[in-house]
Amino acid sequence: MAEDYRKLADQCTLCGACAEVCPFFTATNNIKYGAMAKVEAARRLFAGEPLTDEDLKTIFLCTRCDECHMACPLNIPISVVIQGARAELRRMNRVPDKYKTIAEAIIKMGSPMAAPPEKRLAYIPEGFKPPERARYLYVPGCWSGIRLPETARASVELLRRSGLDFTVLGDREWCCGLFLIDTGMLDEARRLAEKNTALFESTGAEIVVTECPSCHDVFKNVYPRLFREPSYKVIHISELLRDLLRDGRLKVRRSGRRVAYKDPCPLVRRNGVEEAPREVLSRVAELVEYDRKGWDALCCGAPAGVKPIYPEIAGRLAEMLIEEPARKGADIGVGCVFCMYHMGGVTKPSSPRIETLSQIVLENLAE
Ligand code: SF4
Ligand code: SF4
Repeated sequence: MAEDYRKLADQCTLCGACAEVCPFFTATNNIKYGAMAKVEAARRLFAGEPLTDEDLKTIFLCTRCDECHMACPLNIPISVVIQGARAELRRMNRVPDKYKTIAEAIIKMGSPMAAPPEKRLAYIPEGFKPPERARYLYVPGCWSGIRLPETARASVELLRRSGLDFTVLGDREWCCGLFLIDTGMLDEARRLAEKNTALFESTGAEIVVTECPSCHDVFKNVYPRLFREPSYKVIHISELLRDLLRDGRLKVRRSGRRVAYKDPCPLVRRNGVEEAPREVLSRVAELVEYDRKGWDALCCGAPAGVKPIYPEIAGRLAEMLIEEPARKGADIGVGCVFCMYHMGGVTKPSSPRIETLSQIVLENLAE
């Protein structure tokens, strides 16, 4: 595996096409934090050459957002090279302590924030008894289910109102393991793939619906590579809401609000889900676009350990994502609750409101 990572990095000709591509170049204007500098540092690491603190920092300053993916004429998957570099640094015991804390929390406690399992019950509305088996399984993920449970509750409320045959896992849910994947801990991630796939299949669900775009990508694309194809299909909540609105199972009214949609990186760049969330928002509000949208969307700067290790740089990207809709007189609709949590950390009283699609739809239900 280490050889595969090295081969990928060695293909790089240092052509410069990705030098200024990266949200962390955008946030700092420092070429050392652009994508090419990261590949170059990884190449030297794989070759056994010494790395400076700045080399390590640029490898850790990567959310694996894949903005750089389109830039490389040789199609080098730069985020995979970064994954390998982090695995190598972990082997050398040179990763930040935070990496170890987060990984241990996921493996032992089931969430990056090491929350006790009962915290995952807070989003379940009073009076809702999740059935043991159902056609749909709704999985909120850690940030929605634990940290901002009102966001998962809004989705559960909508699914109930639509009459959908669905269930949730409550305190049996476990982290998807994204951080383990982002930091190259693939054996540990494989164990989670086995555990979660079996758990989801035990509900008899034909369709797993995720609130989190990273859970969506991990369940849909990464688990089948690490373990095996599941018996269910995986979709994002925006796709289900679009279908429920199209079918008339949810009826809404337009609010007159202007809302900018923030594309989540894994949803749009790895899975091409671009239109569904826009269709949902357009039914209830006037859709406003960021200057950089869809494939070109700016990353929020938080995932893969960047927010806890470099909060100021990650925060700068969150500020940029809030300033633009504020200038355009729009609130913000997010497709990712981790983006929401991160952006919520830098808002002022005058900042735009930040809500999920489910929250915005729920506020505008017609009946
Ligand atoms: S994956 Fe994103 S954060 Fe990482 S190097 Fe590429 S553009 Fe930068
Ligand atoms: S665009 Fe590709 S070949 Fe050029 S510097 Fe970046 S990774 Fe290397």
